[in-house]
Amino acid sequence: MTPPPTVLAVATVSDPDVKAGYATDESVGAQAPEHFEVVRARSLDDVVEVMRWADATGTPVVPQGAHSSLTGASVAIEGGVVLNTEGMDSITTIDPLEGYAVAGPGVLNKALKDAVAAEGMFYPPDPASSAFCTIGGNVATNAGGLCCVKYGVTGDYVRALQVVLPGGEVIRTGHRTAKGVAGLDLTGLFVGSEGTLGVVTEVTTRLIPAPDPALTVLATFDSLDAASAAIVALRRERHLPSLVELLDRAAIAAVQALADYGFPDDCEAVLLVQSDRPGHTSEDVQRYAGLLTDAGAVDVAVADDPAEADLLLAGRRALSPALEAEGPRYLEDVCVPVGRLVDLIREGQRIAAERGLEIVMAGHAGDGNLHPSIFFDAADPASRERAHAAFTLIVDAALGMGGTITGEHGVGSLKAPWLPRELGDPMIERQRAIKALFDPRGILNPGRVYWS
Ligand SMILES: Cc1cc2nc3c(=O)[nH]c(=O)nc-3n(C[C@H](O)[C@H](O)[C@H](O)COP(=O)(O)OP(=O)(O)OC[C@H]3O[C@@H](n4cnc5c(N)ncnc54)[C@H](O)[C@@H]3O)c2cc1C
Repeated sequence: MTPPPTVLAVATVSDPDVKAGYATDESVGAQAPEHFEVVRARSLDDVVEVMRWADATGTPVVPQGAHSSLTGASVAIEGGVVLNTEGMDSITTIDPLEGYAVAGPGVLNKALKDAVAAEGMFYPPDPASSAFCTIGGNVATNAGGLCCVKYGVTGDYVRALQVVLPGGEVIRTGHRTAKGVAGLDLTGLFVGSEGTLGVVTEVTTRLIPAPDPALTVLATFDSLDAASAAIVALRRERHLPSLVELLDRAAIAAVQALADYGFPDDCEAVLLVQSDRPGHTSEDVQRYAGLLTDAGAVDVAVADDPAEADLLLAGRRALSPALEAEGPRYLEDVCVPVGRLVDLIREGQRIAAERGLEIVMAGHAGDGNLHPSIFFDAADPASRERAHAAFTLIVDAALGMGGTITGEHGVGSLKAPWLPRELGDPMIERQRAIKALFDPRGILNPGRVYWS
């Protein structure tokens, strides 16, 4: 690789141990390549410089935030440069009147939420990784999370972007005003592009007035079928809950093994349901409790003590590390129509029984977005193969139900083989043509999303 120009000497990581820390993400089996560089960008100029140099030398660039990707989207590439934007972490504007904030790509999701909350505003997108993932990564993956059932995903809260293209050109997309329909929606194009079109260097997010502190219902079920039926009933509500999360028996056990988060140990599934509707949280959770009982919950508890509610939610956020501690797993992210959730869960259970696998069911079930964890024995290649086959079957099942291969984690490397199946060749061709328009030399995150 051609040595980086002088300005990058400041930002390029030379210590091999530090460098290794940027080589992989949180995806299963992520492997560090042998030769790669890491640049920790601190400013727009750093990004421009890297993109100029990379384009001139044909060096692959992996834009990177907190490398919490679960799909291999932010793993270093052999002979490439990891362009990490965590250091661009300033919030320069919070404007409650106009309803926006301007943040660097390295600002943590939770830091933005906390900063705007201090001004009485709310930035809803809430991935379970909120405490450690970056806004740049959220934009690039169109991240979802726990409150999408009411508030939608990251893309619903991005008004404008500053992006650096290969060659170093800086462009601005979108608008800061509450409305703006001039021209094609290039902001929407960059949202969810997984670092394949440009490097996001500034994000203008839409803010809304802060909701009330949420109240929580914990409903327990003696079957996943009953929990799925209750979700359908909740989705028919006029005032949608702000959160509907599902954990099955094994997921609850894994979380409770970490600490006592207040989940019961004698049921097949729980639903965590919240309301944050200003002035109506008590009335909503009472109504949800009645509806959940009617739908077949064996027990319903309303956590009106915020500390108790926070503890339950902390338990939900601890689910990923809790399952991680149980052993290696493939983590699914399919999303199906809510009315087909029960079919997806049954299919997962059938596959688990047929293949002799443990598949733990949990996820943002209020959206039909499930994260089945398919466990395998790392020392046994046959077990890993069976787990991968089950992963494939679940994706196939979701597509067959009119669903999608990824509800929120993105395509990355992990799901790239399935993208043509979901989109079809004519659409893949057009998407490749759009990529070529922004990245003619194909240096941005090559091999991710679109198989080379
Ligand atoms: C425990 C855990 C829980 C999670 N829960 C959720 C969840 O509830 N919902 C959800 O949606 N995801 C979740 N994730 C996945 C992950 O946190 C999200 O995909 C997140 O948006 C990634 O942000 P990041 O800063 O880590 O980005 P990275 O992992 O560093 O990068 C992700 C993608 O964004 C691109 N990218 C990063 N920064 C930039 C930039 N400045 N410009 C252009 N492209 C860029 C990368 O190239 C890559 O394609 C979870 C992950 C973990 C480990």
